[in-house]
Amino acid sequence: MHLMLFDIDATLISTSGVGIRAMEAAGRELFGPEFSSTGVEYAGRLDPLIVRDLLIANRLPDTPPNAANLRSGYRRHLTEKLPQTPTARALPGVPRLLDLLESRAALGLLTGNYADTGSIKLRACGIDPARFPIAAWGDESPHDPPDRTHLPPVALARYRARFGRDADPARCAIIGDTPHDVRCAKVNGLRALAVATGMFSIDALRQAGADLVLPDLSDAAAAADWLLSF
Ligand SMILES: [Mg+2]
Repeated sequence: MHLMLFDIDATLISTSGVGIRAMEAAGRELFGPEFSSTGVEYAGRLDPLIVRDLLIANRLPDTPPNAANLRSGYRRHLTEKLPQTPTARALPGVPRLLDLLESRAALGLLTGNYADTGSIKLRACGIDPARFPIAAWGDESPHDPPDRTHLPPVALARYRARFGRDADPARCAIIGDTPHDVRCAKVNGLRALAVATGMFSIDALRQAGADLVLPDLSDAAAAADWLLSF
């Protein structure tokens, strides 16, 4: 069976940057009004690394309590802000693509998001996280320091546990919007479908080594055909 591993932000959904604004709001509440996300890269990155970089960029000790407090504040602010973000939505073609793939492939998530907040984002955009029986979340790297490229083996182990057999890597794809998603697929021998619905251009995603780059997923049938053609 095919395994389709979807990134969340700017691939399945757009939340208009509410995630980083919620992290900033949590930081200001905890550490003062100067707290800022300026200079911290977040697209395609793991939430635990974003939290660490936010602490370091704001000259705060990168300690487990500081990280845990920032994480829980982030969750609270995200929960508050999302209903006030009418632009939070599934991206074009995504509901149709999930419908087309669901009966023909195992659906999965491979994302930098924490499980709780990633699920909150999906639900706010009308996507039920339970549709993805296989998930590898942003804090599930088994290595330190964590890296997105560690997550495909986590997803493949979950596939094995659920279906009682190994997935064929040639029939596994990662669908994402950043060079991080593409690299994560390629170093693990998986296919990469990149979509230019985030901060990266078609050219940048091609240069990163994506097997296919689409402007978006609005032609869901073509995307499904390609994903199932291997
Ligand atoms: Mg993304």
